[in-house]
Amino acid sequence: MSVSTMDIHVQKVEKSRINQLDPNNIQFGKLYADHMLIANYEDGEWKQPEIVPFGNLSLSPATTFMHYGQAIFEGVKAYKDADGNAVIFRPHDNWKRMNRSAHRMGMPDVPEELFVEGMRQLVKLDKNWIPTGEGTSLYIRPFMIATDEFIGVKPAEKFSFIIITSPAGPYYARPVNIFVQDQYVRAFPGGIGFTKAAGNYGASMYPTMEIRKMGYDQILWTDGLEHKYVQEIGTMNVFFVIGDKVITPNLGETILEGVTRDSVITLLREKGVTVEERPLSIDEIVDAYKKGELKEAFGTGTAASISHIAELTYHDLHIKLPEEKNWTISDWVKQEMNDIRYGRKADTHGWIVKL
Ligand SMILES: *Cc1c(COP(=O)(O)O)cnc(C)c1O
Repeated sequence: MSVSTMDIHVQKVEKSRINQLDPNNIQFGKLYADHMLIANYEDGEWKQPEIVPFGNLSLSPATTFMHYGQAIFEGVKAYKDADGNAVIFRPHDNWKRMNRSAHRMGMPDVPEELFVEGMRQLVKLDKNWIPTGEGTSLYIRPFMIATDEFIGVKPAEKFSFIIITSPAGPYYARPVNIFVQDQYVRAFPGGIGFTKAAGNYGASMYPTMEIRKMGYDQILWTDGLEHKYVQEIGTMNVFFVIGDKVITPNLGETILEGVTRDSVITLLREKGVTVEERPLSIDEIVDAYKKGELKEAFGTGTAASISHIAELTYHDLHIKLPEEKNWTISDWVKQEMNDIRYGRKADTHGWIVKL
């Protein structure tokens, strides 16, 4: 690879837009930091990346990703502690996952240096945009699109890798009401469920609109063969606390390998909690509920960190989870992750990349 992030060309904004950011009222995804990183892939190699002012792209209407969906993305966060020290949480893991997605979607690997070091330089330049305060962060969105100007169907040869960032306010996640979906399917063996491909999201919009109309917040997806085994909730990995065990579906082609999922499993196991990664059927959850053994259920993801489930609806059955004050496992692990992110606890796992 010819890419060197040692000397990324930086074109700085003439005037920062930081005064548009109201730290007391951050609306996620509305405002983007001053700069973005762009690298283009052509003739079988990545060209030198550039950091430029955030702005619109100019693309031919024939640009191939708009038609055939060779588009993938990642979600990462940077956090700032009370003293102004800023870190990025587990970017190397997002880099590895981006390349698993790229491989499955017929796209080129992104070099580690471009992804991690390019991101570090971009975030460092826009460090002022990382909010301070518990639960706040700078959301980092790396993505790759196929950019051939060609509407014939074939794998593309030109690609752009871009990183944009957006401040995220404290996430007051209210417990969510979940609809157990056994008609529409998110992921199928042999498919692209394990990738962060744009198309996975596109396909989930209609089923999500339908359940929102019925008053639910998110879907608990089940497997496509038997509609029996749970997969994920919405776009988060899912965990159930049954008795004194924590159970989450095992990884495979139909489950997205969440970085938060892995952090949660690692921290719980270190604390001595039994975590089982295995197929989990909706019947087993219903059984546990009827026996009074279903203690907690939650989703995990970079955006919301931990999202508690208040109620699960499966056909006519409304499974109510115990009250908030009893969520000992999920609240402990959320606190533990935040302590590491905001520098209150030592990072013993190599999860933190300093700016
Ligand atoms: C991004 C994503 C997750 C969560 O992954 P994190 O790395 O924890 O943010 C879970 N499921 C799906 C389908 C996703 O796209």
